[in-house]
Amino acid sequence: MQRRDFLIDVARLAALAAVVPNDWRIVHRPRFADDPFQLGIASGDPTPTSVMIWTRLVPKPMEPDGGMTMRTAVSWEVADDEGFAQIVKRGRATAVPELGYSIHVDVDGLAPDRWYFYRFTAVDAASPVGRLRTTPAAGALSPLHFAFCSCQHYEQGYYTALKHLSTEEVDLVAHLGDYIYEYGPIEGRARLHNALEIRTLDDYRKRYALYKADPMLQAAHHRAPWIVVWDDHEVDNNWAGSFGENGMESDEQMHDRRAAAFQAWWEHQPARVPRARSWADLTITRTINWGALARFWMLDSRQYRSDQACGDGVVNVPCGDWASPSRTMLGPTQEKWLSQGMAASRSRWQVLANQTMLASLDTAPGPTLQTSMDSWSGYPAAQTRLLNTIARAAPNRTIVITGDNHANWVNDIRASEPRSPSIATEFLGTSISSGGDGSDRANFYTDAIAAENPHVKWHNNRRGYVVCEVTPETWRAEYRTVAYVSRPDAAIETPSKWRVAHGRPGVQRES
Ligand code: FE
Ligand code: CA
Repeated sequence: MQRRDFLIDVARLAALAAVVPNDWRIVHRPRFADDPFQLGIASGDPTPTSVMIWTRLVPKPMEPDGGMTMRTAVSWEVADDEGFAQIVKRGRATAVPELGYSIHVDVDGLAPDRWYFYRFTAVDAASPVGRLRTTPAAGALSPLHFAFCSCQHYEQGYYTALKHLSTEEVDLVAHLGDYIYEYGPIEGRARLHNALEIRTLDDYRKRYALYKADPMLQAAHHRAPWIVVWDDHEVDNNWAGSFGENGMESDEQMHDRRAAAFQAWWEHQPARVPRARSWADLTITRTINWGALARFWMLDSRQYRSDQACGDGVVNVPCGDWASPSRTMLGPTQEKWLSQGMAASRSRWQVLANQTMLASLDTAPGPTLQTSMDSWSGYPAAQTRLLNTIARAAPNRTIVITGDNHANWVNDIRASEPRSPSIATEFLGTSISSGGDGSDRANFYTDAIAAENPHVKWHNNRRGYVVCEVTPETWRAEYRTVAYVSRPDAAIETPSKWRVAHGRPGVQRES
């Protein structure tokens, strides 16, 4: 808008407001058809001196370009106080159509290990206020409180768990994937998807808009910085490298779908991930350091993996090329980066921000091994290489945090199955909403099946998240669950608490 037009508008507005105040809202539409900050704001990927901050202007989320029609200047502020009396940093950025009118600012020059507040303004609209924080300085061993979560199928339940998460005293939230689901709507569920199965950039943008409009998801983002990786549903169920779910898509179709999905992911997450020359090749693999206490290895086990063996699903093994040493979960480049990086890292705890279960879950009684082709157990050569890396580089100080499974699991990770010593602990967290209300125990996990899996210390099939408290000597994990998600407002419960002592094998139950 030209300044002259703006002045005319203001003059008209003042005149009208004086005479017919009820017309204010109708007349006063200089730029936005509605609140452009309906998707909230977010921060992420903190360092000792910087944090990414994010928003996206969408006055009409379900219209093309979110109802935006032109490049728009956005101001941002970071302050010491919630009232923004003490502004520490401020600046301007431009929302452009090529990036879905999203804003990503890497705010630097901040002080280590402390909290700030942040907000955006555009024309006459102001965003909500969020909290963000920097990490402790390199070398510091300050404790870390964080939560991790995954799998928030919009149709299958309310984000009650995220509402509770937004009241936890956490420094960070790690999201391990399935932030959105790509499916079309199915009637009769708690809520409905906005459109048929999504494939184009416009489809993915609208799906993110649907999810991000949820006030409980926004509250959890506004609480603390998030560190985010994707799993399969950010693109397509159980996709693998250049293969879609059902193998019907051509390479070119899958390439285009990846590009659309990856770009939309980038546009909606506060991640410090450089844009790729081609969106189809976006790399999200990165590390997040919490001083010298913990290093998070943000893994991508979807875009570089081999296709699932033996037609995918849960099958008896060995079968087909299941055990082929050439099959990969992380791809050679990421695998080498991880193994060399873990060997070189002096961090007290190594944390794998991982998608699918690392432990091999055997779902057949007796000597037959029946296991998931989509999890690490479906890629046994890659699984063994990762276990060797852990055993060599960081035994008994590696924690694997995992999503995908829509149930809670606490697993000892053994150097080689089945009864060798434990070298790591896997805290696998359930879904926020995927799978609906759930139950205390999954039907398939009978006593007979539990007996097949002595490395599994606990299982529970409710929805929720996990909170971790990390010090140089101890890693504590508390599992939080809600009894239902098909209706709002379930109370939060803590069905179990766990402890790992740095340098000692095995996980211990506290309560
Ligand atoms: Fe999921
Ligand atoms: Ca068995």
